[in-house]
Amino acid sequence: RKFIFVTGGVMSGLGKGITAASTGRLLANAGFDVTAVKIDPYLNVDAGTMNPYQHGEVYVLKDGGEVDLDLGNYERFLDIDMTFDHNVTTGKVYQHVIEKERAGDYLGKTVQIIPHITDDIKRRIREAAEGHDVCIVEVGGTVGDIEGMPYLEALRQFAHEEDDDDILFTHVTLVPYSKNGEQKTKPTQHSVKELRSIGLQPDILVGRCEDKLHADVKEKIALFCDVPTDAVFSNPDVEDIYHVPLMVEEEGLDEYVMDRLDLESEALPEAER
Ligand code: ADP
Repeated sequence: RKFIFVTGGVMSGLGKGITAASTGRLLANAGFDVTAVKIDPYLNVDAGTMNPYQHGEVYVLKDGGEVDLDLGNYERFLDIDMTFDHNVTTGKVYQHVIEKERAGDYLGKTVQIIPHITDDIKRRIREAAEGHDVCIVEVGGTVGDIEGMPYLEALRQFAHEEDDDDILFTHVTLVPYSKNGEQKTKPTQHSVKELRSIGLQPDILVGRCEDKLHADVKEKIALFCDVPTDAVFSNPDVEDIYHVPLMVEEEGLDEYVMDRLDLESEALPEAER
């Protein structure tokens, strides 16, 4: 089984979810059974109690799970039905661990973020991926947020426990234009530095920008962030988000991912995509 972890840097609302869903769509087109997990590092157990003015509509899954609307993106982009287990929240994780502690399941041990919370996070990701070829895991929030730390630590451990060609890290950042019309890479450099400080090295970088990243900008990002130039992709502004998979396909994201994860494609016929 293959896992693709998608993290975001610089700020939220960049299109991390859309990038993750687009990667999944391209792999589904290549004939793989793709599923997704959305991690929401908030303490709410689910999105059912959250103000829609702040978070957008609550998305209701087939099994009645009330979740973040990002899960809707995954269901639509991947043409799949997901269940409540595909949304991991800090509330759910702590509730479960505390219930186990009250039941005496930890046999007197001190219950800690590492390993008990991180173990539960890893278990949930593995269980949601069960039976699928590829599991895309989007970590909500931005790298560096206090709330996200246990998840990134869990991912660091996860990467150690799985083979190198079963795991891939994609990091989505912002590449803003400066007043004099240059695409600036510094926010991306800082964000990757932050990620590396917690022991995670991205394999792929996706830069959200007003338009496609220029070749020299990709080279600069590659050099400073220690990835090959062909592992740097653009997520330019589009009128219709359903065009994002096509934009990243044009730059060869699907081929890069399959190559890196050692996946042999059996492409679906055009009509089934
Ligand atoms: P994040 O996961 O980083 O918070 P999302 O994927 O939820 O971001 O996207 C935030 C918003 O930006 C959504 O409304 C989404 O439709 C929009 N969006 C994402 N990618 C693009 C793009 N390439 N062009 C235009 N809008 C986009």
